[in-house]
Amino acid sequence: MAGVSQLHASTLDPSIGIKPDIRDLALDELESIVREAGERAFRARQIMGWLWNRGAESFEAMLDLPTAFREELNHRFRIGSIASAHVARSSDGTRKLLLRLGDGEDIESVIIPTEGRTTLCISSQAGCAMGCGFCATARMGLHRNLAAGEILGQLMAARRELDPGEILTNYVFMGMGEPLANYPRLHRALTIMTADWGLGISPRRITVSTVGLVPSMDRLLADFPVNLAVSLHATTDEVRNRIAPINLRYPLRVLLDACEALPIARRRRITFEYVMLAGVNDSIDDARRLAKMLAPLRAKVNLIFFNPFPESPFAPSSRERVDGFQAILHRGNLTATIRESRGRDIAAACGQLYAERNRPAAAPR
Ligand code: SF4
Repeated sequence: MAGVSQLHASTLDPSIGIKPDIRDLALDELESIVREAGERAFRARQIMGWLWNRGAESFEAMLDLPTAFREELNHRFRIGSIASAHVARSSDGTRKLLLRLGDGEDIESVIIPTEGRTTLCISSQAGCAMGCGFCATARMGLHRNLAAGEILGQLMAARRELDPGEILTNYVFMGMGEPLANYPRLHRALTIMTADWGLGISPRRITVSTVGLVPSMDRLLADFPVNLAVSLHATTDEVRNRIAPINLRYPLRVLLDACEALPIARRRRITFEYVMLAGVNDSIDDARRLAKMLAPLRAKVNLIFFNPFPESPFAPSSRERVDGFQAILHRGNLTATIRESRGRDIAAACGQLYAERNRPAAAPR
């Protein structure tokens, strides 16, 4: 069937094996495949239940499907699963997972327990092309986009690493990669994540972070009522050009105007991430400018302690400096929280564990 073979071609990453990953499929696509095999459409929901609720890793395990159909599925598809290459556990309970994909690429996910919630930080790409100066992942460059099944495979892998009684409550796309640069696959992953036939996760528990790919922000929020986080990190174009080069394409004014124009901007808070770099973006003037810049928005600022990594040209701002910065934002009527550095003892800065475990490949170019 032409439609089905096109679908397979689009969901199969050519770098991974021959069979397409059934975890890349949405319900309507699986229903077509089920009907094509001469089975009733409800079988597609049964398969989804096995994949996403029961975490089946083989078609043989799907005992309520006819044996011949299970064999056909097995002949045509694989169930993508991601192996944990390394798990580092911090004294603060943070667990950093180095996960190995089917083609040998490594990516990172992080389980972050805080009071009353356990958040999973998810990667959307292997590496990243955005080149942010304070980011260990940027040193890798972009290796490739992740397929939807690989994005979601991180949830399944993380579930294996949870402590007894612990459940994932929140999901942030703040791991390796720029999610909006991989939009078609992010869209597919979010569809499966939020659907009742998929993982059934409320979009309110999902945050997508972007360094500022302006044209895709609107599209994301039109498609899913998720939370948006914008990595701002600077209050002048001069500094932002240097530490987040996407600013050369979408300067601060363009980015902030786009945020103001988002239909959700009047109803919901947009979070602005701001990594505190000593002597770079942490002055009193920066704090005042930031308060002024964000005043027209329903904004929340996350001040982030920089987690330094080897060869990083930046140092973290002092505790006093971060506290003082926050106080100025508060005086400007902005909600501002300080995100404590987590997992410092396990290389939890984005891309850092990868760099440590793949040192020759990740050496600065
Ligand atoms: S901070 Fe995010 S967008 Fe920037 S290089 Fe790192 S992973 Fe990419």
